[in-house]
Amino acid sequence: MNRKIFNSIWIVAVVVFLASLVFIMGVAYNYFSGVQMKQLKNETQLAAQGVAMSGKEYFKGLDTKDYRVTWIDSDGTVLYDSKAKTANMENHLEREEIKEALKDGDGESIRFSNTLSDRQLYSAKLLPDGSVIRLSIVQLAVWSLILGMAQPICLVILIALVISFLLASRLTKRILEPINSIDPDNPMEHFNEEEYKEIAPLLKRIKLQQEQLKHDQSEIEKAALIRQEFTANVSHELKTPLHAISGYAELLENEMVKDEDIKPFAGKIREESSRMTKLVEDIIDLTKLDNGGVEMTWEDCDLYRIAENAVDSLEVASSANNVTLTLKGAEAPMRGIPQMLYSVIYNLCDNAIKYNHPGGTVHVTVEQSAHNTVLKVKDTGIGIPEESKERIFERFYRVDKSRSKEVGGTGLGLSIVKHAVLVHGGRIEVSSQPDAGTEFVVIFRKSEPDIT
Ligand code: ADP
Repeated sequence: MNRKIFNSIWIVAVVVFLASLVFIMGVAYNYFSGVQMKQLKNETQLAAQGVAMSGKEYFKGLDTKDYRVTWIDSDGTVLYDSKAKTANMENHLEREEIKEALKDGDGESIRFSNTLSDRQLYSAKLLPDGSVIRLSIVQLAVWSLILGMAQPICLVILIALVISFLLASRLTKRILEPINSIDPDNPMEHFNEEEYKEIAPLLKRIKLQQEQLKHDQSEIEKAALIRQEFTANVSHELKTPLHAISGYAELLENEMVKDEDIKPFAGKIREESSRMTKLVEDIIDLTKLDNGGVEMTWEDCDLYRIAENAVDSLEVASSANNVTLTLKGAEAPMRGIPQMLYSVIYNLCDNAIKYNHPGGTVHVTVEQSAHNTVLKVKDTGIGIPEESKERIFERFYRVDKSRSKEVGGTGLGLSIVKHAVLVHGGRIEVSSQPDAGTEFVVIFRKSEPDIT
């Protein structure tokens, strides 16, 4: 870039200088031609006076080194010529300057002479006796003008080249200095926006993209950390039931269990393995949701119908916990992923039963308003302390770890619920009174109705 800018400036300067030189030479040439013609006219005037006074005598001893002097009679016959033999010369009446002189008293012209092969300046003057005296001179050629001025011209060209070179390198430096001083990591830091308006948008864009990149980078790092934590938690959660199962199996293998205890041991093994199954199922659900539910099929479904299915499958659990589970509402068509909507209702109801008191109730309602489809799950259970309300949606967070374990919780239920609700563009709210009960409200926005 440095070289390129330098070359451009230098070439432009040199071209402009040479063009100016040619122009000035042209003007000077015209000027000198004018001066030459004026001088020639003066000389003609003098010669005319001389010839008028002394006739042919005038030409004797006349120094005609630079000029050609011709004397033409009124009929066009050449009476005298300083550079050619008069005998061979044709009639001169048709020469432009002669014609003019005969007509107006004096005449001039510039042309190639027939007799001599140079470009000539001619000046003619009519004498009182009707004859014409004519002086001519070789016109100053451009080359001779240039040649005559060769030395100063060369000097000027040399000085101009040196000055152009120095200016071009200084200018290049000045142009590039602010660009070179841009800090690529912080493009707008020392940048004077007024000085370089043209590249300000580019730098702003770079800065914006850098910020975006930094943001993306920190998001990626955060996601990686969350994944790491999640993997560690999963391993830990799986290890506990696995240890328990292998412990029971070892006791059975070594016949260290009394016959009557075999059945409860088998029961414990089944319990632990179903806890593992639940955990694995929850992890699969979460993984699907982490991908934004892309590989799951969106369908026109009915939230009420899905709630009915979930409530049906929790009937056994609710009666085992001595909790009354009811469902109210009406048909609620919406667009969604049925498995995920089922998970939402199932997990909320499952929690409402698990964290309830014996004899408690769980009321499920599905309603539709003009713009929303709303699901409510209200229980009369143990409630959630204020400080945990936000955290219950985190993966593996439990208010009371031992109670959650006791009731077969994985700590993933509510994070699945929250994630699934978000994938459906909805939101979830929770209100709770410790020891009085909890209500979860899920609000899905209905798609905008067509206005026809
Ligand atoms: P878990 O598998 O432990 O139930 P969740 O993610 O479903 O995990 O819930 C997280 C925690 O939130 C639970 O451990 C429990 O402490 C609390 N919780 C969830 N639902 C209720 C509820 N309806 N009443 C009281 N506490 C609840």
